[in-house]
Amino acid sequence: MDIVAKNVSYTYSEGTPFEKRALNNVNFRIPSASFTGIIGHTGSGKSTLIQHFNGLLRPMSGMLKVGDVTVSASLKNVSELRRQVGMVFQYPEHQLFEETVAKDVAFGPRQFALAEREVEERVRDALSLVGLEYDQVAEMSPFQLSGGQMRRVAIAGVLAMRPKVLVLDEPTAGLDPQGKEDILQTIVDLKRTESLTVICVSHSMEDVARYADHLLVMHQGTVVMEGDPIAVFQKRDQLQSYGLDLPPVLDWVHRLNAFVEPQIPYALYTAEQ
Ligand code: ADP
Repeated sequence: MDIVAKNVSYTYSEGTPFEKRALNNVNFRIPSASFTGIIGHTGSGKSTLIQHFNGLLRPMSGMLKVGDVTVSASLKNVSELRRQVGMVFQYPEHQLFEETVAKDVAFGPRQFALAEREVEERVRDALSLVGLEYDQVAEMSPFQLSGGQMRRVAIAGVLAMRPKVLVLDEPTAGLDPQGKEDILQTIVDLKRTESLTVICVSHSMEDVARYADHLLVMHQGTVVMEGDPIAVFQKRDQLQSYGLDLPPVLDWVHRLNAFVEPQIPYALYTAEQ
């Protein structure tokens, strides 16, 4: 399902001395089944924006549609929207609490009054999607796992709800290089589920270059660039004006392109590695 925003604005603590306009006339179209990266400096509005996708926040003006659902102050059936839009907030492993991995991943589906067999099938599928073997980890305590594995269990818990859209906020934050690499690979592998739309907030241009096929660039509460990552990365100077530097490899491609003809396709780097 597409997510479309037209002139969406949001202000925190409106009418108080702490008033802060966090989104200012935001426009975009996130295509269904895309891998969309949202990049931007700290404070540019990324977290505020994604909290609108499952109705945690509602636009104060403008229009936001998630599939057929209009996210507005008057939206009643927010639980249905939350079923469809799975959110993985920063450090999601802090919310693991069950004694075993299987119970933790099953927590969401159990809210739907499904048959036990169906719950187990969802748990198996979700663990497999994040690259974990059910038979190896199901009976382990989540706290016996590495930080990266715990994070994957937390993501599996959201996938077990079978959402149509998966939103991840800085999924590699705080992991060691190997854990970070594994999570990124997991995200890239999620592409196997073709119908899932994945939206990933990151401050790392290098990370989004690895998986995104659609990019939103945010600056001071507005989406200032949108489109194919290859086209976005070609506008190095504009990105720099938003405080975003190309990762070293892309920067190198950019410099070389100034001298050679035909141009080296950025896709050589951004293609799945
Ligand atoms: P990002 O995710 O890109 O770092 P945020 O959406 O968190 O940006 O923040 C956008 C702006 O809104 C920032 O100026 C931030 O300080 C402000 N902001 C975020 N959350 C709140 C809040 N709960 N109350 C007031 N201001 C907030």
